[in-house]
Amino acid sequence: MLTLPPAVQELKSALNRLPGIGPRSAERIALHLVQSKQDAVDQLIRSVKEAKDKVSLCETCGGLTETQPCPLCSNSQRQQECICVVVKPTDILTLEKSGVQGTVSRPRRPDFADERSGSRGSAY
Ligand SMILES: [Zn+2]
Repeated sequence: MLTLPPAVQELKSALNRLPGIGPRSAERIALHLVQSKQDAVDQLIRSVKEAKDKVSLCETCGGLTETQPCPLCSNSQRQQECICVVVKPTDILTLEKSGVQGTVSRPRRPDFADERSGSRGSAY
């Protein structure tokens, strides 16, 4: 039985660890990548590295951003006193796409439980 070369198997395994990528999709993507032009693969690598290097969590709200504070927190036109608490930073994107206007969305931080128990001071 023909098996994947070890490097392709390793790439498949790495892709399979990504959310929403099952083993069949991982194999299809791995095979596509190893057969792609070098420029296309290099561009993908640069894009992944650039996103990882540039994107961080907003120090104010915890949302994904390339600037501190994020565009939502630095927008004086938004209602600063009305806060929507969400579970994950990506939930802010979902709210924004839904057209919710005029609120600052703040994801629940991992230490939120500590804040609720009173062990930490918080503006939340
Ligand atoms: Zn923010």
